[in-house]
Formats: sequence, C-alpha cells, structure tokens
Amino acid sequence: MIQGIHHITAISGNINKNIRFYTEILGLQFIKKTVNYDSPDTWHLYFGSSPQNPGTTITFFPFAGFSRGKSGNGSVKVTAFSVSSNSLDFWMKRLREYQVACRGPIRRFDEEYLALEDFDGLELELVANDKDLRSGQGTPGINEVNAIKGFHHAELSYSSVEKTAGLLTGVLFHERLQEENGRLRLFSHDALPGNYLDLVGRPSLPAQQQGAGTVHHLALNTPDEDHQKSLAEKLSKTGIFTTEVKDRQYFKSVYFREPGGTLLEIATLGPGFLVDETPETLGQRLQLPPWIEHRRKEIESLLPAIDY
Ligand code: ZN
Repeated sequence: MIQGIHHITAISGNINKNIRFYTEILGLQFIKKTVNYDSPDTWHLYFGSSPQNPGTTITFFPFAGFSRGKSGNGSVKVTAFSVSSNSLDFWMKRLREYQVACRGPIRRFDEEYLALEDFDGLELELVANDKDLRSGQGTPGINEVNAIKGFHHAELSYSSVEKTAGLLTGVLFHERLQEENGRLRLFSHDALPGNYLDLVGRPSLPAQQQGAGTVHHLALNTPDEDHQKSLAEKLSKTGIFTTEVKDRQYFKSVYFREPGGTLLEIATLGPGFLVDETPETLGQRLQLPPWIEHRRKEIESLLPAIDY
C-alpha cells in the first residue's frame, strides 16, 4: 500500500539562505537538523508543516559552493505545496515583501496556483484548494488559515510518461485522476492533496542536470515494514533493482530508480520525527543516529557552520 508522498529531498547551495527561505519566508517548521547518513560530513535538513505527519516534509542536502543544476526530464521538476483556497492574495503580498518573484495565479484543473523558485532556483508552487483536510501551523507573520498544509503534488517530467505511469498504476497502487494539456494526475490511497503525482510529457526537454536547486529523490509513504517488504518484492519481480532496507532513524527506506529515471524511495510512516526530540525542541540541536553518535565531535568539526 502507498499513502501519498512521504518526503521530497532536494539539493541546496548556501545553507543559511536555505533555512531562511523555508522557515522565515514559507513559514515551515525546522523539523530536523541532522546529517546525510551516507556521508556524515554533510548536513541533512528537514522542514515541514507538522512533525506528526511526514507527508509534509521537504528535506535538503546543502552543499556550499555546489554549482546550480537544471531541472529537466527523468526527475521531479516541480514541488507543489498546498494552501487554502483564499490564501493566494496573502502569498503574493508576502512574496513581494521578501522580493521573491512569483507567477500567477494560474488556473490548472479546477485550482489556481502561484509558481516561484527558492534561492537556489528549485521550482515550487503554492496550489490553492479547498479539498485539503490538513491544517497548517501558524508562524510569525503567517496565520493558520494561510499556512502551508503540506505537499499538494510532485510534478515528474518525462519525454514520454507511459513507462512511469505504467509502474505507478500497475505496481505502486496509483490510480488515474485527471488529464489536461499533457498532464496526467495520479493519486494513491485517497484523491486528496499530498497524494497526487503529476506526470507531464515534454518530448524536447533535456534530462535534469543534478546540482543545487534540483530534486534528488521523491519518497512515497507506506504504513510499515511489512508493506515495504511486499512492495520491494513486487518491484523485484518486474525486474527493478531495489536497495536493502536502510534505517533512517525516523523511517525505514528502500530506494530504486523507476524506468523513467527518477530516483524513488519507499519510506515507512514511523517511527517519526519525535523519536529523539520533543515538539518544542525540534530542529534546535544536531541529531545523530545511535550508530554515529560516538563521532559527534568529529562530525561537528567537519560540518559547515550554520549562522542563520
Ligand atoms: Zn529520502
């Protein structure tokens, strides 16, 4: 079983600008300050609307001085957040105040959205809708009504969407919801924001060049390790190589590259972001998993300083 997006992980450049954009400007909570477990001398930052719900979390590997990438085919091109239907005026005004350019409102399906980029050029959207049952968390300057509620969808771009659509609907429990102007919207579990994947065919767009401002991978949510295991077995039977289960402390993960080229992850819902911190202290202290905690001093000395 798949229950929507678990998290989206992107690459950023300057860590302080990255933190400022997602916390101060977009009003997300700083949910976790940890390291890339596969390379503990680099940061891994988590921002989200609710620590209880991983389906609201965008995470970053910040690499200072990493050159900018270019979004393109075979990857997640746009990360879209969900906001309530009357909040776009608020967001246009707020983005103008912070000198963040945005386009829109633009109409698509039965919704309107704003298109913007973060400081590294990562393509984002704020999609206004009245279907999202989640509530946003108010922060200074952003009240609960206008706050981001979590993801709306991820837009995946391909020269042709057929192979990816086939895998998602045939193996990964997605269903077709809507189609318009070369955009196919799929959903898993319930047809609600946070559970949508939009597949867009762009025959002439070049492939993504990975670098700052591009998405690294998209994680889909599964309830527990038993579901994860059966999904991995199903994928193997179709000839897709999946990694072993990796312990990410807050969830367990299996990774694979789907036939269209996007790196996908199947992540378990639990145990969640409150295993090592209380809601009041989230994101304040560097959190290391038990297996590298003994290297804390060395790791702290290798990590670029945060002075935001
Ligand atoms: Zn991930």
